[in-house]
Amino acid sequence: MGVHYVGELSDPNSPTRAAFDHLSEGRLQWNPMPDIYDRIVIGGRAYDFPAGLDRFRDRMKAYFPGEAGAIDAYISAVEAAADASGLFFAEKALPRPVSRLAGPFLRWRFLRYANRITASVLGSLTSNRELIAVLTGQWGDYGLPRGQSSFGIHAIIAHHYFGGASYPVGGASRIAAGIAPVIERWGGRIVVSAEVARILTTPEGRAAGVRMADGREFRAKTVISDAGALNTLGRLLDPN
Ligand SMILES: Cc1cc2nc3c(=O)[nH]c(=O)nc-3n(C[C@H](O)[C@H](O)[C@H](O)COP(=O)(O)OP(=O)(O)OC[C@H]3O[C@@H](n4cnc5c(N)ncnc54)[C@H](O)[C@@H]3O)c2cc1C
Repeated sequence: MGVHYVGELSDPNSPTRAAFDHLSEGRLQWNPMPDIYDRIVIGGRAYDFPAGLDRFRDRMKAYFPGEAGAIDAYISAVEAAADASGLFFAEKALPRPVSRLAGPFLRWRFLRYANRITASVLGSLTSNRELIAVLTGQWGDYGLPRGQSSFGIHAIIAHHYFGGASYPVGGASRIAAGIAPVIERWGGRIVVSAEVARILTTPEGRAAGVRMADGREFRAKTVISDAGALNTLGRLLDPN
């Protein structure tokens, strides 16, 4: 796992912090990153991202005094898209008949943003290329430059860090180590260096277990794969 920093943890009442505290039973401790949690450097000019939305807004307006309106509009669009993402993701947890009925209503607001390219949204707010480069300078966090990325993903990530960022005390491996005892106490077993070769399926096409690369087979009522969509659908499942 690669971790530079994680947002939404400095507030002990945030849902993200509550989830980590719950899963690790408080074992996982977080240190705040420095107040300037990101710095975008363009041609020798440095643009700092300070923790806290109001301070971020003020700092951007100080860097780009003629662009106050565009900066406000950008922050509003990011907040609206991130807000709409809640229902979009909640829909994925609904039972299928409910999501078939309610799904389109829960998804459409976020999809309005997610179906647009980041560069196009930013280009509709300002023609200042340096400002656009600064506001999208965190693209390494989600892996696609602004000409290719979805504004929905850009907004979720940018919004995630508005309050600043934190790092796990002891390093990224503490995230797994903090949660492992809980999994084991509830009857789970964690095995490492254990490659799944195939997800086994019933003749009706239901997942029924896994076959390991060493030939062992484990049967299960439910199989959850977090190996990624390409691996899971392309390699682990029978193509038929
Ligand atoms: C370089 C980098 C930096 C990042 N920095 C940050 C950051 O600063 N902050 C942040 O919040 N997020 C960051 N992320 C994203 C974060 O790491 C991921 O979102 C997170 O790890 C995803 O967790 P996951 O459990 O879904 O998948 P993963 O962590 O990818 O876990 C999937 C696991 O499945 C295993 N696997 C695959 N195939 C098989 C198989 N056939 N059999 C058995 N096991 C298999 C893999 O070995 C892997 O351990 C970063 C990602 C990268 C790549």
